[in-house]
Amino acid sequence: ETTHDLQRFAAQLDKWVENDRFYTAEGACASYIPALQKADPAQLGVVMVGSDGTVLQSGDSEASFTLQSISKVISFMAACIDFGTSYVLDRVDVEPTGDAFNSIVRLELHKPGKPFNPMINAGALTVASMLGKRTPQEKVESFVSLINRMTGRRPAINEEVFQSEWITAHRNRALAYYLQENGYLEADVEDALEVYLKQCSVEINATNIAMIGLVLAHDGYHPILKEQILPVQVARITKALMVTCGMYNASGKFAAFIGLPAKSGVSGGIMAVVPSHAGSPQSPFPNGCGIGIYGPAIDDVGNSVAGSKLLKQIAREWNMSIF
Ligand code: GLN
Repeated sequence: ETTHDLQRFAAQLDKWVENDRFYTAEGACASYIPALQKADPAQLGVVMVGSDGTVLQSGDSEASFTLQSISKVISFMAACIDFGTSYVLDRVDVEPTGDAFNSIVRLELHKPGKPFNPMINAGALTVASMLGKRTPQEKVESFVSLINRMTGRRPAINEEVFQSEWITAHRNRALAYYLQENGYLEADVEDALEVYLKQCSVEINATNIAMIGLVLAHDGYHPILKEQILPVQVARITKALMVTCGMYNASGKFAAFIGLPAKSGVSGGIMAVVPSHAGSPQSPFPNGCGIGIYGPAIDDVGNSVAGSKLLKQIAREWNMSIF
């Protein structure tokens, strides 16, 4: 690829970010976690990282934000590394629900109350309770060290966001109690909540989540470090979960109209994966890439409004789809 091509691609990306920034006005920053409301809702940024380390970025691409639900992807991978997939899948299923991310209804309706998938809060609380060793510190460490291995940076926990979540976690606490009653919690309720809310409060940026997406794009292999970080099977299950459950109850529309595995969080981040077979010659990354997007104004479902538009435009214009 010539420098000329890259400049042309960068100019296209700049134009799309500029146009899609308009849509930030159609969403709002999450308010149920008070600290998240401090973000500037007009921000929109994107980072794309290719297998050879080539980076394309545009807009507010250096902003830092908390992982929120994107953390569910990472904790699932960490639990699979720590315990193996069959142990994890005995405790959390891989079926989409089409319910809101924090829905409680199926835990009571469908005995024995096994959470449907690790991308909704119920499943993520179960996974958080499993992680690493016994104490919440050790569990958070299992999560943080996996991010460190994939991104080369040890992320910090945003204490203000964590405190804000902790004191407003009424529904998550209710979910955790249901899970405990049904036997799907491997730690006590307060410890599981602490781990889950800390993983949600980890500070990250679009470059970091693009790097994690890149590792998934290569089935768990880190093409820059040249190291297999996740077993292939774990990477594939994770991508399947992202396609079927990653964008909450808009996952079907994302699969249909964007066609890339993606995971969003209520802070406005989106991590997307372009596996090598989905890269196209019309795109800057014919061998696939990882994509990190940030746009804190979210819709009713909890997905970044402008971020979703931008991802759709990138996928369509550059002809990238897993289908
Ligand atoms: N910490 C948030 C919660 O549990 C994460 C939710 C999300 O990003 N959808 O409510």
